[in-house]
Amino acid sequence: MGPRGGGEGGDGGFEVDIEIRALNDGEMEFKLSGVNPAFANALRRAVIREVPTMAVDEIEVLVNDSAIHDEIIAHRIGMVPLKTPLRGYSLPEECNCEDGKCPKCSVTFSLKKEGPGVVVTGDLKSSDENVVPVDDSIPLVKLEKGQKLELLAIARLGLGRMHAKWQPGVATYKYMPVLRVDPRRCDGCNACVEVCPPKILSPSNGKIKVSDVTKCTMCRMCERACRREAITLRYDDTEFIFRIESNGALKPEQILQKAIKSLEDKCKEFIKLLDKLVE
Ligand SMILES: [Zn+2]
Repeated sequence: MGPRGGGEGGDGGFEVDIEIRALNDGEMEFKLSGVNPAFANALRRAVIREVPTMAVDEIEVLVNDSAIHDEIIAHRIGMVPLKTPLRGYSLPEECNCEDGKCPKCSVTFSLKKEGPGVVVTGDLKSSDENVVPVDDSIPLVKLEKGQKLELLAIARLGLGRMHAKWQPGVATYKYMPVLRVDPRRCDGCNACVEVCPPKILSPSNGKIKVSDVTKCTMCRMCERACRREAITLRYDDTEFIFRIESNGALKPEQILQKAIKSLEDKCKEFIKLLDKLVE
């Protein structure tokens, strides 16, 4: 992909750059430069559609005395995010077994509880200690005295494009704001400083200084507040602030790695098909 605007790039070679701005177990923010909006969007879609995670896919209800229907409980359990090991499991369609219930492609959970009390995700006992709910305290259903709930659940790998329960989290991006204050026009009235919601403008020697422009929300309040038209706000469509927020199934950097890998695999597949056509 070309470095600027999607062309082949006259100066030769790639200029794609990733600068990590924040990273912890739940979130990742990075600056993605040297790509076009189509590439940034492809990456966003790969994150939410193509990264395999574990989720409960099949439930057998043995006893349910609760006030909630079997189907509602099944749906609630399906939506519980599960910690997903990077290796060790294959997608059911890629597994050699016939029913998608072998240890290579599935994890079994059992749940047995009697009221009074609230059944929580921690009550789901897994056949693999590496595949467990990311949080033990998510309430599933409330049981009155004497009411019982007993079920078996099977979790499998899946992709976000099949069902949202397999989404590893959310991905968003925004264009890099470009905020210029013309010092010849600016008379230092500070009207823009007052109105800016993220407070990134400050007075400096009778002029205006811009601090962290990545916090700009592009609301254009500063532009409108300026009587002397000293402020111009536009965006750079080759630079993006990209955010990945994990639901806990995988770490954000693992999500990014898997998403990029899926794009790579798709390109390889495409090349393979084209090779056949050319032969
Ligand atoms: Zn299998």
